[in-house]
Amino acid sequence: MDDEALVTEVKPDAADKADGESSPPAESLGFDKVAWLASLPIRTQIDDPTIFDADARLWQRCQPLVRALAEVYQPTSKELKRSAEPQYSMPTFKHYLAGLIGMTDPSHWEICPRCQGTCLTPDHKNPCLSCEGAGYVPRHDGRRLA
Ligand SMILES: [Zn+2]
Repeated sequence: MDDEALVTEVKPDAADKADGESSPPAESLGFDKVAWLASLPIRTQIDDPTIFDADARLWQRCQPLVRALAEVYQPTSKELKRSAEPQYSMPTFKHYLAGLIGMTDPSHWEICPRCQGTCLTPDHKNPCLSCEGAGYVPRHDGRRLA
């Protein structure tokens, strides 16, 4: 699929409304949302990128808030690394904050290992049980990205 064909498949308004949030017009964000989404390689590997598009846009809209949060709470490298690991005990509030601050941008998100981007169960009758039909999994690599 070439980029031009992909761009025509991005549905700015429908995806933004999918999460119940309104969003500012693309031009007020200072970049072309449609082109940005189309540039994310993983998007072409997801059979139905509707949820991915909505989540990627939500990630984008949250970045000013995450940067502000990171000014209030600056997790150490160890805290960031621990927040990316599976938990075997009750995490603290700081653990969750470090997890949010350490989330990677959508260009690092990966195809769901269970459905391989089909977004469906193997019988194709229900949304994938791992990604809930999103077709991708977000990444947290244990360090803060600039
Ligand atoms: Zn899945």
